[in-house]
Amino acid sequence: MKIEKNSVVHFHYSVAEPGMPQLESSHDRDAMAILIGHGNIIPGLEEAMIGREAGEKFSITVTPDQAYGQRQDGLNQRVPRKHFKNAKIAPGMQVVLPTSMGPRPMTVLKVGVSVVDVDLNHPMAGKTLNFETEIVSVREATAEELEHGHVHGDGGVQH
Ligand code: ZN
Repeated sequence: MKIEKNSVVHFHYSVAEPGMPQLESSHDRDAMAILIGHGNIIPGLEEAMIGREAGEKFSITVTPDQAYGQRQDGLNQRVPRKHFKNAKIAPGMQVVLPTSMGPRPMTVLKVGVSVVDVDLNHPMAGKTLNFETEIVSVREATAEELEHGHVHGDGGVQH
């Protein structure tokens, strides 16, 4: 079946800035599972999947506006050090911390004795990104998945 709104898609990807080393890849773990049309992934990649089928491979270049948005000033925040379970944090490291909007990736700017300065911009904000993508499988979503807005089972939410 072809991918359309409300399809469940499993896929592998790798992402890099044009001409740069790979930033991230799913190939060393399970395929990503997403529900199309529910904001599970960046708009540019989701749009490029519409109409494709299992087994298809494609590469696309996505501008920041269709990816993680532009970098914003004023997103630096000071966080109590105790929120970092990993004691070996260092400037430049990317960490994921729970926020009122759910888990959020951020970049460590400065590490103090009791506080840590972080930049809440997404690490890929402001970047044009190349995605190498392989569609692994496509299926229809269950009624429960549509209600929750995410995929259940393999690669999805387990609950
Ligand atoms: Zn659910």
